[in-house]
Amino acid sequence: MQSWLKGLPVVGRKPIPPYVYLVGAGPGDPGLLTMRAIECLSIADTVIYDYLASSEMLAFAPQARKIAVSDLPGEHPNRWPHIHERIVQEALAGNVVVHLKGGDPSIFGRCAEEVAVLQAANIPYEIVPGVTSASAASAYGEIPLTHRAHASAVAFITGHEYPGKEDSHLSWEALAQFPGTLVVYMGVARIASIAASLQQFGKSPTTPVAVVQQASSGSQRRLLTTLQTVANEIQEQQFKAPAIIFIGPAVGAATSPSWFERKPLAGKKILITRPAHQVGDLLRQLELAGAAPSHLPVLDIVPTNQAEVDREIRHIARGLYDGLIFTSRNTVDLFFARLRALKYDARTLAKVQIASIGPATTAALAEHNISADITTHDESNSEALLELLRPIWQGKRILLPQAAEARTVLHDGLKAFAEQVQPVVCYQQEVVLNPKSPVFAELRKGDFSHIHLMSGRTAEVFLAACDEEILIHFRSGRTVLVANSARLYQLLTEKGFVCLKTPHPQADGLLELLLGE
Ligand code: SAH
Repeated sequence: MQSWLKGLPVVGRKPIPPYVYLVGAGPGDPGLLTMRAIECLSIADTVIYDYLASSEMLAFAPQARKIAVSDLPGEHPNRWPHIHERIVQEALAGNVVVHLKGGDPSIFGRCAEEVAVLQAANIPYEIVPGVTSASAASAYGEIPLTHRAHASAVAFITGHEYPGKEDSHLSWEALAQFPGTLVVYMGVARIASIAASLQQFGKSPTTPVAVVQQASSGSQRRLLTTLQTVANEIQEQQFKAPAIIFIGPAVGAATSPSWFERKPLAGKKILITRPAHQVGDLLRQLELAGAAPSHLPVLDIVPTNQAEVDREIRHIARGLYDGLIFTSRNTVDLFFARLRALKYDARTLAKVQIASIGPATTAALAEHNISADITTHDESNSEALLELLRPIWQGKRILLPQAAEARTVLHDGLKAFAEQVQPVVCYQQEVVLNPKSPVFAELRKGDFSHIHLMSGRTAEVFLAACDEEILIHFRSGRTVLVANSARLYQLLTEKGFVCLKTPHPQADGLLELLLGE
């Protein structure tokens, strides 16, 4: 997948392996990675990451082998020795290793233990700080951690050392007297005993409390309550890890709703089904609008018939064609890739007229310094192009690069007035949908507000993978299908699904629709 920060001037200098970077990834929003984290990712041979790392973060390390901690043996907390063992193994095999950890590595991240293991193995390392969840939840939840009037100190506390735990190092009596904000990490499951204990040692039952789940992501949820009621409310509203709890008078100065929760797409969970190479910065744009996007690629593009495409390019060079038609960005990209491979360039096309369907195709041509002679305003509108060409391309010899699955309208229509029409298939679509993706469980729960579908074929493959439990949400409108074209909109509506249509088929058409631009 492409990173959304193309052209970022990051020049990581690769150390001689073995070398390990313990890198804080922040709380989830890829925008909260540090520049240093990105530098380390850009030079890593191996990235070992935990559940907080998103595909957008991993895209900064396209060259690296990626290992999910969840794929290593053992369950938390018994997984740690396996993680340490794997890091050492990878480093000693001659690799620069990044261990990408949630938040800041030094705050409840077992950083010291990891460092001890690296020192024992004589492996050089660096530690890269990250935005810890306390400050992220404070910023994105607009809950002050310190306050001139209410809190002059902050304590980071682990909820794993809950009151009553035999080997606890914490004095809840002292914490009840703490003159500032208590920030409890990993505390959701133990909040009842924590709240009871603090009250027992004299903390007021009306002390303001805030809970922030999945801070900084589009799925962020926040609860403002008191010490007395927090345990019940967490249970009733089903707050779950990862969530952080703030306790203290400064929490009373929280703004409600927070700036982040006022974003136009806050709380919207959106599924993108575009091929990976076409996603661009769409996921990031959705995040910046407050949404929680997920990506489930359905189809991918596979180049075909290279020899035939090459032959037709040579025919153009020999002057055997007068017109060349591009119907999609894919045909443009694949055609020019072959043109370059054959050591031709834009001059080869100097004598042919070039037509394109739709603004996205025309924009793709412009990226190759070609401005189309004739173009339609709509995408997927072969009929409109035929009308434009009929009066001016009479008796011409036309080359038509296209997809294996292309409709025949254009080919048939051109034959009526051209001297010669030569279609050449330059790619076909391959199904890459993973039916085991965790996205399907979320679809079954009706978690998604919108699903963006790109084409009839995408819709067909995707819908065939959805069971009745999922489809019911598409019929009720709990999950709205967003069609990329009028034709797809009609097809989906006829099937009884609740649909919307984007104003145009480019990636940002979805944003324009959802933001009402
Ligand atoms: N090193 C991490 C903390 C790891 S302990 C850091 O500096 O943030 C894991 C705990 O961190 C979770 O149980 C939760 O309390 C908190 N946490 C991690 N990510 C979070 C998020 N996005 N929102 C709220 N809390 C989060």
